[in-house]
Amino acid sequence: MYFERVQRSLEEVRARIERACVRAGRRDAAEVAIVAVTKGHPPEVIEAAREAGLRRIGENRVREAAEKWEAIGRSGLEWHMVGHLQRNKVRDALAIFETIQSVDSLRLARRIDTEAGKRGGPPMPVLVQVNASGEEQKHGFPVADAVAAARRIAELPGVRVTGLMTMAALTDDRDVLRATFRRTREAFERCRDGIPAFEPRHLSMGMTNDYELAVEEGSTMVRLGTALFGERVR
Ligand SMILES: *Cc1c(COP(=O)(O)O)cnc(C)c1O
Repeated sequence: MYFERVQRSLEEVRARIERACVRAGRRDAAEVAIVAVTKGHPPEVIEAAREAGLRRIGENRVREAAEKWEAIGRSGLEWHMVGHLQRNKVRDALAIFETIQSVDSLRLARRIDTEAGKRGGPPMPVLVQVNASGEEQKHGFPVADAVAAARRIAELPGVRVTGLMTMAALTDDRDVLRATFRRTREAFERCRDGIPAFEPRHLSMGMTNDYELAVEEGSTMVRLGTALFGERVR
């Protein structure tokens, strides 16, 4: 039953992304990746997403992700941590996630570096979270500090900085949303042009409420929960 809903929603989402690309003069809607944010939904939702062709799964809590991961296995999926990560959960997070999108402090980045070193595997891909809306309760580096932070994090041998992530304010004011996304894109461009070790692969911005604007402003990765799966159940 989840599958049909996801399939239908996904069609709608793809059409909206395509139209946003056209409005912005972007040629290839396929360069906008979709992360299916499954937090608050049961593991069956992830299986439905996988069946519908979605590969990237977003979760915001390590424990919840671990439970689902154990329930359904990881095959064919790429897990993204999108929520605030406590340093004492880093080791567990590294075992589950392919990318940590929510690196919001140097101390967290250093812990990831240390734990990745202990694991002895390849460096951990991370995105630097930017607080471009300026809201006090939001995690992330202020825009003014984002480039310097990305530079320092990119120097750590145990991590690869593969882009930036931001969350906009919960508002319908399109100018406010647009300004948030534009500032983040400008920071992304400064990182790309000024930091040799920065890998400009992902500009992760846009959620259910605002992904079309984010795409218009250059997002290459939208993180969608409600638009795909409806209201969260827990
Ligand atoms: C929950 C969450 C999302 C998805 O939110 P929706 O509004 O349901 O699309 C995206 N990004 C982050 C960081 C989240 O915590």
